[in-house]
Amino acid sequence: MRPPVPTEMSCRELVELVTAWHEGALPLADRTRFEMHLCLCTGCRGYVQQMRRTIEVTGRLTEEDVAPAARKDLLRAFRQFARSKGEPR
Ligand SMILES: [Zn+2]
Repeated sequence: MRPPVPTEMSCRELVELVTAWHEGALPLADRTRFEMHLCLCTGCRGYVQQMRRTIEVTGRLTEEDVAPAARKDLLRAFRQFARSKGEPR
């Protein structure tokens, strides 16, 4: 049996998993994909950095801190950023 090939994580998926990742709640396969994406995607690196800063300030991060509308804006910003950098994501 072939080991499952890790599929590429999208920015959207990353944003959805970031809380679980930060809490260390992601299964290893997802964590690997998450961190792989972080290596490749400057936009998401910035997002995670921003998240950590939020946690430092508030002491925690809740779902309300990343409202769906804000996430949409972030994703749009990521895509524009990635495009301006000539990266595929
Ligand atoms: Zn990304």
